[in-house]
Amino acid sequence: MSAPDPDCLFCKIVTGDIPAEIVHQTPSVVAFRDVAPQAPTHVLVVPREHQPDAAALASASPTTVADLVTAAQTVAETDGLGGDYRLVFNTGVGAGQTVFHTHLHLLGGRPMTWPPG
Ligand code: AMP
Repeated sequence: MSAPDPDCLFCKIVTGDIPAEIVHQTPSVVAFRDVAPQAPTHVLVVPREHQPDAAALASASPTTVADLVTAAQTVAETDGLGGDYRLVFNTGVGAGQTVFHTHLHLLGGRPMTWPPG
């Protein structure tokens, strides 16, 4: 597993050095509410290990990608979303990625439009 990056915001949330509203955690992942929610439920599920994006995580630790999705489903159930939610990995600046520590967005609690902007 890669070590925490001292310059990474989400590594600092994982280690507890920066506070967040944590809603679920497992040995491999941490889920916390997005500070600027775009839906009634907007939770970020991140791996404890630092990898810059979903593809890098899939190469380094493929089972952790499944752990992210499983954790998102658990939070969706806790938040009463049933089976209606959206999961998003923004990858690359051009796709809107602003934090370069893999994170899965869980969005739900309102109708979802398609295609996204
Ligand atoms: P992205 O644009 O896909 O990289 O997503 C980054 C997300 O992190 C955005 O939705 C931000 O609102 C969210 N975010 C940034 N800082 C924090 C923080 N300290 N706690 C929780 N969410 C954050």
